Amino acid sequence: MSDVLQIGLTGGIGAGKSTASRRLVELGATLVDADAIAREVVAKGSVGLERVAEAFGPEVIGPDGEMDRAKVASIVFADDARLAVLNGITHPLIASRTAELVAQAGPESVIVYDAALMVEQGTQSRFALVAVVDTEEETRVRRLVESRGLPEADARARIRKQATDAQRRAAADAVLHNDGAPEELLAQVDRLWAERLVPLEENVRLRRAVRGGAPVLAEPDPGWAARCERIVARVARAAGEASLGVAHIGSTAVPGLPAKDVTDVQLAVGSLDAVDGLVEPLLAAGFVLVPEIDHDHPKAADPDPAHWRKRFLAGADPVQRVQVHVRVHGSPGWRYALLVRDWLRADAAARAEYLRLKRTASAEFAGDPDADRYVALKEPWFDAAHPRAEAWAESTGWTPE
Ligand code: ADP
Repeated sequence: MSDVLQIGLTGGIGAGKSTASRRLVELGATLVDADAIAREVVAKGSVGLERVAEAFGPEVIGPDGEMDRAKVASIVFADDARLAVLNGITHPLIASRTAELVAQAGPESVIVYDAALMVEQGTQSRFALVAVVDTEEETRVRRLVESRGLPEADARARIRKQATDAQRRAAADAVLHNDGAPEELLAQVDRLWAERLVPLEENVRLRRAVRGGAPVLAEPDPGWAARCERIVARVARAAGEASLGVAHIGSTAVPGLPAKDVTDVQLAVGSLDAVDGLVEPLLAAGFVLVPEIDHDHPKAADPDPAHWRKRFLAGADPVQRVQVHVRVHGSPGWRYALLVRDWLRADAAARAEYLRLKRTASAEFAGDPDADRYVALKEPWFDAAHPRAEAWAESTGWTPE
């Protein structure tokens, strides 16, 4: 996948994905339609269809020159080896055609990759943001029957074969609800475009990280875990082989703890030099390097600042805030982030003490646009907490992984 920012759009059959994507195109998005590409690479007269016929016999081409989809389906159905042969032909063609379309998009385009089976295929982490059109199953069945003339049993059977609504929702950075009137869906698409997609594209293009903001504590949200999983997967995919592990850290990783509504993740690397090669792929995934943040505050147990170097990125999405701390695997800062998280998870008294401090600090800096002062106020507590957390690690046999 090229290092170009892309937005993913998906939805179960009949949810209204095509309706949403048409609106995005009207608003100015560049649409890359996965289903259309999949048809195009085996269209009548294509190289792809020729190769499919070589592999499975000339009878897979109908008298009209089109691929006989039912015949191909019957060949690969329940035969994984033959399915692999088919995918071996189509997948590279789909990938190169997709890359071609993405490369053709203008420099300020918002590229929307529209794929019905994104969650089924597990490709959601390629996208800097995934929007899901979410519609109740009964509504979808009714629309498929009424507007597409599908028999009800067929509509239900197709829905059964797809991912569940819950699986798609877990993949969603933005949910578009479509149980109401079409205008209500379109209004949500318009807001998504203006409030998130356009600023996200601009922030990435201008390498502008979304940071700061007054330190407002949010009550812990049951959606934080799924959000974190999406972000961890996105960072891991962008970092590729340079990643020695991506972990959820910080307050949102401690269940039950109120926190600033910002997801912190730690990307472990072998050497900070590796980050140079990650800047572009991470940018395409929606994370912007903040060069001036390059170290953690050294703790007394290891005061050498060289051991506490890091790199730092922040998300470009103005709504779903993210911070990515890149630290060398095995370094004191890497260990510390994991240790404090696990200690706070395990020790209710320490958690309560930390929460009191957070409340005091956020009250002190309420309305202060500079969250760094809030962070600085908490620093002495973390310094003092370090030996306590290490003592806990010693007594429990805790190790970083
Ligand atoms: P998908 O691409 O997700 O399968 P579509 O966008 O084609 O779904 O929508 C399925 C059908 O439902 C279409 O005929 C569409 O016109 C209709 N539809 C979409 N949204 C609404 C809505 N809010 N109210 C009524 N009909 C709708």
